[in-house]
Amino acid sequence: MKVLKFGGTSVGTVESLSNVKKIVEALPDGCVVVVSALGGITDRLIATARLAAAGDESYRAETEAIAHRHFDVIAGVVAEIRRKEVIERVGDLLQELRRIYDGVFLLREISARTLDVIVSFGERMSSAIVTAMIPGASLHDSMSFIKTEKWFDRNIADSSLTSALIRKDFSSMPGRVAIAPGFISTDRDSGEITNLGRGGSDFTAALISAALDAELLEIWTDVDGFMTADPRIIPDARIIPEMSFVESMELCSFGAKVIYPPTIYPVFHKNIPIKILNTFNAEAPGTLITDISEPDSECPVRGVSAIKEITLLSLKGDLTGNVPQINSRSFNALARKGVNVLLVSQPDSDNAFSFAVAGNDARKALEALEDEFAPELTSGALERIDSIDSLSTIAVVGEHLKAATRVGPRILNTLMRDGIDVKAFSTGVSETTATFVVEADMTSKALILIHNLFFPSPLPK
Ligand code: ADP
Ligand code: ASP
Ligand code: MG
Repeated sequence: MKVLKFGGTSVGTVESLSNVKKIVEALPDGCVVVVSALGGITDRLIATARLAAAGDESYRAETEAIAHRHFDVIAGVVAEIRRKEVIERVGDLLQELRRIYDGVFLLREISARTLDVIVSFGERMSSAIVTAMIPGASLHDSMSFIKTEKWFDRNIADSSLTSALIRKDFSSMPGRVAIAPGFISTDRDSGEITNLGRGGSDFTAALISAALDAELLEIWTDVDGFMTADPRIIPDARIIPEMSFVESMELCSFGAKVIYPPTIYPVFHKNIPIKILNTFNAEAPGTLITDISEPDSECPVRGVSAIKEITLLSLKGDLTGNVPQINSRSFNALARKGVNVLLVSQPDSDNAFSFAVAGNDARKALEALEDEFAPELTSGALERIDSIDSLSTIAVVGEHLKAATRVGPRILNTLMRDGIDVKAFSTGVSETTATFVVEADMTSKALILIHNLFFPSPLPK
């Protein structure tokens, strides 16, 4: 059995939904189909909530525009015989949404909890539409089986409870095709509506694949496969025909938006391959992700990616000579505050030991380190902790990097030759990824230079 996930762009319009229908109907066996909200709807639901909270009455017109978009799609893709039923279902959901927006408008306030409820309507409506579009499909309620728990200020999946609930829910599949909304979930203790984070439908599909021991997870999107770089920045990025779980996990954790990073772990754990496919070009072979990383005889690099808006925290002073102590105390202090470390760079000639964290974690991270090292900052064993923001991390990924010679120095030379200042550099523990921290406004230039080093553009004819 396969699990197919269709992202927002794939379920955005009548045309793209018609492609989805063809792809699903052509499958010989049963399958589970996970769908995102109609393209752009999650952003719009949030923007409308902010209008209402700001007391801007145009939230009403915006809500009606959201309603029209859904009714237009229904008219375009759902057979007449099933239309009334789905119009009623989506109509009820929209009525509930209007009441919530009215409440936000009256109170001039929007909590994170209310926003989670509001964004859930996107996938609740799209999944009802896709179910009505595919004859014989049955709708499964992800909010009843995807469970989250609180972790600091985030909701994270409770994988074992979720897995047990998925197996129970799908033990009898009434139709050949089971549809499930992506992204949305509920808190395992309070039952409140939560979600898996922006882009989280991929993760829903992975949790279902792992729980049901699917043979394959197909991620259908709007590009022909996983590419050597973000095609919006590097138009001549190439499709990667095959790559390993580890390579895809590293590229996605370092910003390749094509798969939501937590997605890979549950399927990797069960050794379920992932395929990245294009809803708009279903014939294209796509990218196959498995546990095998075939070396490419010509190039040790599989791809490059970048995360913008990171902050570098640098500890300076004699104590940085004690690497194990700095490492363990910093990691523990940051973990206690729920801060994820993106990169660690070893002491350099200035005796600086640096950690890169997401820009929006920077304040929390600095406070955690200042608390942890308060005695050393007082005694002078640590001179100071600097925080430098507006940076980005460029990741160069390939499981065969470690066997290649001088990849790091070649990249450093290329960047420095073009006047790009590398603030920190690390090869990580696995040596699958080399990371470089540069000024955020140098991100595209650095990506282009590195990409061109390993994947030179063909000479013009
Ligand atoms: P979906 O709505 O299907 O979930 P996303 O927008 O989340 O789609 O992800 C697909 C997009 O990811 C592509 O349109 C592409 O612009 C972007 N992207 C970024 N990096 C890469 C990459 N390395 N390979 C392919 N696509 C990438
Ligand atoms: N609709 C959600 C979002 O836009 C989830 C997803 O598309 O995967 O983030
Ligand atoms: Mg996505």
